[in-house]
Amino acid sequence: MDIRLDEIDEPRVGPTDVKLKVAYNGICGTDLHFFFALGRPLRLGHEYAGTVTEVGAQVRDIAPGDNVCVYPADSCLQCGPCRDGYDVQCELFDRSISTVGCGSPIGGLAEYSVVPQHLAVKLPSQLTLEYGALVEPLAVSMTTVQRAQVSPNDVAVVFGAGPIGIGVAMALQTVPCERIIVFEPSEERRKALSGLVPAAEIVDPREVNPAGDIKDRTSGLGADVVFECAGAEASFISTTSVARRRGLVVLIGIYESPVTYVPNEICVKELRIVGHNGSTREAFAAVIDHMVAGHYVADGWTEHVPWEKLVPDGFERLRRGEAVKVLVDIPGGGGSV
Ligand SMILES: [Zn+2]
Ligand SMILES: [Zn+2]
Repeated sequence: MDIRLDEIDEPRVGPTDVKLKVAYNGICGTDLHFFFALGRPLRLGHEYAGTVTEVGAQVRDIAPGDNVCVYPADSCLQCGPCRDGYDVQCELFDRSISTVGCGSPIGGLAEYSVVPQHLAVKLPSQLTLEYGALVEPLAVSMTTVQRAQVSPNDVAVVFGAGPIGIGVAMALQTVPCERIIVFEPSEERRKALSGLVPAAEIVDPREVNPAGDIKDRTSGLGADVVFECAGAEASFISTTSVARRRGLVVLIGIYESPVTYVPNEICVKELRIVGHNGSTREAFAAVIDHMVAGHYVADGWTEHVPWEKLVPDGFERLRRGEAVKVLVDIPGGGGSV
């Protein structure tokens, strides 16, 4: 596997397009999956922000000089799922070629990126471009918490404190829900989370049996809602054992290998298991509001790597769980941190 900064033709700006000079692009678990497991060339980068340099003749709401981030799920905006806010489930667009940085000809790991105007999301002047690059992953987490309809009385369990798990805990904190219990083996990630979500109860899953631990913490009842953000077999198996009867389990993690699981608990406890993918535009707006209000901060969980160190300091350290969120500084991006 390799990764390269190729010279490609400067993308042309169509009448409804927006061209931005990319400042920062975050690396996501999906990128790691593509990089380490996919084995075919792909233009990467779906968490990014930059400054608009040019707009097409028909673009009205965005102008050169504006700072924008990018909503990556391009879709038809017309079909049932699109109208219901499930852009990622669009019936007309093929996701494997329409999602920015995940198979589409558009990617944020580049000096310039041209996107259709409906994918450019304007950032308020209070937010730096660094925050802009964090909107997408935090919006994925925000969407999943909103769809789970978490209520203030709920006990929530989160498996995995990578960027999505941390974002889920941060979103739960904004509800706020009664208790947030997070299982995470990496010490660095546990430390980052404790600074961001002070009320979270953070547990090393290698030191306890999650099922027994949650029983002890909840007088035997279990969790109302469980978010699986680790993409690991042990976490997957634990989700149904920590859930309370008739509880909800949300799967967000991506697995690279099969899981051996006996599903009886789903029936016995009458659980609801749902999958979750991507984000909504409403969640983008909610995250931006939380950032402006100071509820969401970039410090304590993000770090910057220069483009040249993308593989050793970015992909490989993330793979080992040694970093939480890595933002790649794009050469000449000129973004102010
Ligand atoms: Zn992502
Ligand atoms: Zn659609």
